[in-house]
Amino acid sequence: MEKVVIIGSGPAGWTAALYTARAQLAPLVLTGKQPGGLLTTTSIVENFPGFPEGVDGYELMTRMQKQAERFGAKTSFGVVESVDFSKNPFALTVDGETVEAETVIIATGASHKHIGVPGEDLLETKGVTYCATCDGALPVFRNQPLVVVGGGDSACEEALYLTRFGSVVYLVHRRDSLRASKIMAERVRAHAKIKPIWDSAVTEILDVKQDKVTGVKLKNLKTGLESVLDCAGVFIAIGHGPNTELFKGQIETDANGFIAPKLGTMTNISGVFVAGDCADQVYRQAITAAGAGCAAAIDTERYLSARNE
Ligand code: NAP
Repeated sequence: MEKVVIIGSGPAGWTAALYTARAQLAPLVLTGKQPGGLLTTTSIVENFPGFPEGVDGYELMTRMQKQAERFGAKTSFGVVESVDFSKNPFALTVDGETVEAETVIIATGASHKHIGVPGEDLLETKGVTYCATCDGALPVFRNQPLVVVGGGDSACEEALYLTRFGSVVYLVHRRDSLRASKIMAERVRAHAKIKPIWDSAVTEILDVKQDKVTGVKLKNLKTGLESVLDCAGVFIAIGHGPNTELFKGQIETDANGFIAPKLGTMTNISGVFVAGDCADQVYRQAITAAGAGCAAAIDTERYLSARNE
């Protein structure tokens, strides 16, 4: 039986692993399908303290993993299929095998939201993508008009990154002001290749018949006017939803699916803790996720000490 199992390998997961490893609890980290989490798909992280020149997202996560492993964290590239938190030890089914755990830290993060318009799902990987750093350099997007949907930091970051490849980058936002931080919004406004399209929604992605993206249908939400904008790629950056489906019926969440801790980082199940974006609708930063991972590790350590006294 494992003393501590950590589900997820983003900043929350690896920080929880570092702290529980240093407490000699030999945590087992189940990385999930995307080792390192969403941050591995970011280009340069400029706001993680300690890196004055910025740091590549993938490199930051690899460093966190190495640091946790140095103190005895164990890594498994397993994907959790189901959990049973009805009794302790808890039982997790991981790639068909059962893993027993005295405590569990949930750090499953969040995933990209979809806009839910015709063409979006059918043209995914055929011009529709949720990650400019992963796909932006593909030949199909070179010197072509590209569309980014959203008005937050992610959309701004995607748009700025895509200026390296596209002929023009249209930033389609449903309002007339950006939600993004001032510094990102100013960079976007100042870039000659980025053309904002305000108060507008993408209502359809074209063209399923041709099996590739050729454009988007737009609707101006103020005037109701509809138009078609030609483009070779649609990069959707409208935020994230929590990865908590796995725990439905066992761990209490709010109406949006975010886990709501009860006491510190402890969930409604004694011995199950939570950290990071799957429990955070407000801050959603790498550094706040890392901080929450630290807190969950300390709570876990104290829980185990009290239990085994
Ligand atoms: P976000 O801040 O929630 O922004 C989502 C954007 O998408 C908003 O502008 C929103 O419009 C729009 N949107 C939401 N649902 C939509 C829909 N169905 N159709 C069309 N538009 C829709 O998400 P985010 O940009 O992914 O950022 C998440 C967090 O990560 C934030 O805290 C952000 O600061 C952080 N982050 C930071 C950096 C950085 O510092 N470099 C980079 C990326 C992310 P409204 O504005 O009208 O709500």
